[in-house]
Amino acid sequence: MYEQGASPRELQSDNDALRARMAYLMEQAERNHTIMCRHQAFDLEIVGAGSFPELIGTIFRSLPVISDLDIVTLCLVDPEQDIHTVMDKLGVDFSAFPQLVFVGHDSVLGFVPSRSLLLTAPSKPLLGPYVPTVHQAMFPQPPAGLQSVALVPLIRNKRIIGSLNLGSLDPTRFTPALGTDFIEHMASIIAICLENVISNEMLKYIGLTDSLTGVYNRRYIDRRLLEEIGRARRQAYRISCLYIDLDHFKAVNDTFGHPGGDEVLREVAARIKAELRLSDALGRFGGEEFVVLLIDADLESATIVAQRIRASIADAPFHLSTGDQLPISVSIGVATLDDFERDHAIEGVAQQLVAKADSALYQAKENGRNQVVTSSD
Ligand code: GH3
Ligand code: MG
Ligand code: MG
Repeated sequence: MYEQGASPRELQSDNDALRARMAYLMEQAERNHTIMCRHQAFDLEIVGAGSFPELIGTIFRSLPVISDLDIVTLCLVDPEQDIHTVMDKLGVDFSAFPQLVFVGHDSVLGFVPSRSLLLTAPSKPLLGPYVPTVHQAMFPQPPAGLQSVALVPLIRNKRIIGSLNLGSLDPTRFTPALGTDFIEHMASIIAICLENVISNEMLKYIGLTDSLTGVYNRRYIDRRLLEEIGRARRQAYRISCLYIDLDHFKAVNDTFGHPGGDEVLREVAARIKAELRLSDALGRFGGEEFVVLLIDADLESATIVAQRIRASIADAPFHLSTGDQLPISVSIGVATLDDFERDHAIEGVAQQLVAKADSALYQAKENGRNQVVTSSD
């Protein structure tokens, strides 16, 4: 309260000071409100991300802007490289995300469980100056002049699944004295989103692949064929289909048992794959039958690929883990979609292409197996 007898001038100056303080607080509140709104929009954006690349793309693109950071990176703990493998198979282009780092164990991240009466106290963020020798793993491409960093553990079910790493050129931005509630909250949302999106991608992958051989399954090939026919019609390139069936495979199972047969199937898949381009798609259609879609390949070049596959299987014996050796051969039917049958529904055209390759395969079996037959119609 003001002292009795304060002069009007003193009152005026106090009043001005209060007004200025008020204006400052208002401005501060407005700024905080803007930051909060931006973060809320960010939260909504990451919660809505439909895929792994979309999620990390949003984090790397938006977070530096809304939080005024000079670099944001993400480490993911991936001991068996499952996440990396699945994302790779789903076509994630890792070169687009140099800020994404996979680590084999959470100890690489340097978090220590905080001291607490509770034995399971969660790890706390690490804030302080940027030290290249310590932080190299988290910032593989640091911006010039990086000064202070915050490494925030991403925790799900008391397990560290990774870290969110924030960096600033301002040495006072992250200091050990800074409160971490806000960044911990942000990291907890990011951790949930990451876990969700990774398990969704894993499910997607499992739904599209054959667990025995690791190549695609029939569902994927059917779907991919429809997409490719649509694209081939627009861009006028050729698609060819190989239908591959192992010769006398029943005898392999009868002699070496089902596990022996499974080993052969895995090796056949690997040998086929080795002859293909990245843009081609290989799927197991069930049993001992494989289908290959060759993108931008006419009948002639598809037949050459088929011959290469046939030879790579027949020319070298298969070695089983039991020490047994056995010769294996395949028969292959080849068909091409060259006029695009634009007037017909894509589904029918797709079925017809596979059916043509299948009947060429039947012919190869009839002709004595271990050979390639090219569809003539
Ligand atoms: P052909 O040269 O005429 O193709 O003779 P085949 O013996 O290969 O053909 P058939 O269709 O008579 O037999 C296919 C066999 O494939 C039957 C089954 O024992 C085996 N098979 C199917 N799926 C699997 C599998 O997942 N694992 C193993 N080990 N065998 C399988
Ligand atoms: Mg068969
Ligand atoms: Mg067979």
